[in-house]
Amino acid sequence: MEKRIDGKAIAAEVVAEAKAHSEKLVADHRITPGIAVVIVGEDPASEVYVASKGRMAKECGFHSVQHTLPDDISEEDLLKLIASLNDDPAIHGILVQLPLPGQIDEGRVIQAIDPDKDVDGFHYVNVGKLTTGELGSAFVPCTPAGSMILLNRTLGGDLSGLNAVVVGRSNIVGKPIASLLLAANCTVTIAHSRTADLAALCRSADILIAAVGRPEMITGDWIKPGATVIDVGINRIPAPERGEGKNRLVGDVNYNEAVEVADHITPVPGGVGPMTIALLMANTVSAAYRSAGLDAPEF
Ligand code: NDP
Repeated sequence: MEKRIDGKAIAAEVVAEAKAHSEKLVADHRITPGIAVVIVGEDPASEVYVASKGRMAKECGFHSVQHTLPDDISEEDLLKLIASLNDDPAIHGILVQLPLPGQIDEGRVIQAIDPDKDVDGFHYVNVGKLTTGELGSAFVPCTPAGSMILLNRTLGGDLSGLNAVVVGRSNIVGKPIASLLLAANCTVTIAHSRTADLAALCRSADILIAAVGRPEMITGDWIKPGATVIDVGINRIPAPERGEGKNRLVGDVNYNEAVEVADHITPVPGGVGPMTIALLMANTVSAAYRSAGLDAPEF
């Protein structure tokens, strides 16, 4: 049995679906999905992310614009740009690359985005819809939504009754994943840095989600035999074997140990990572459909 969940391949499927839905919207309604990505300052990692989002959006046939703003931009000017994007009918999705420089209140900027264009799913309206189960009209954050697609396409779509343990309670990963698992009828436990006997709790999980940010913290003996493991963590660790000063990426789970026990597991890289950007495309298409009063496609 292939145990490795191929996030790259599933992400490519989702992107192809987003592209097909986009083409249909253009053909049937003459609406081209539009996305605006806003980046402030010159953080190299953020620039790489933003460039690949722009590339992927073009590949999907979207109208894609990027606003690169100076590091010392005022909050007021950034809010003016958000307001103009909110008013622009050609733009259906707005993404502000985080983190923002210290003079800007991130929360205020996120809450200024029109919830109907909030393809990152961070606006309180979308958080509220997710937690109350209004999934038909919510925007769900991309990493959690992508993790659920990996689970559904691996386990066949019915997760009812499974014990799910989510390690990590951040607003962008842990909490929204827990809400999605609950909506999918799992019995959900959210663990964090104060959780007692985390190893035993993880061993009770049919579905184990690791969203911690600690390299290979979850070892093979924490995994229930036959479990499905989604490793959201992305950690850069020194890799002297690759040469002086070189790094490599690892997840929050020790893959080589866990793969011996689990039935299904995502690798890092090549697991959840590619799904995040694919879901940004899916959310943008959904935003464009909803802007025309149509039901959003399902992914
Ligand atoms: P945060 O730092 O915001 O949250 C980490 C969570 O892990 C916190 O809830 C924290 O608990 C918990 N935690 C920390 N140490 C322990 C411990 N020893 N035992 C149990 N729980 C612990 O991280 P994010 O949620 O933003 O990201 C998590 C990981 O996912 C990171 O590696 C990040 O790089 C990656 N990531 C990957 C993405 C992708 O596209 N694949 C996208 C986003 C993130 P407490 O609340 O008590 O402090």
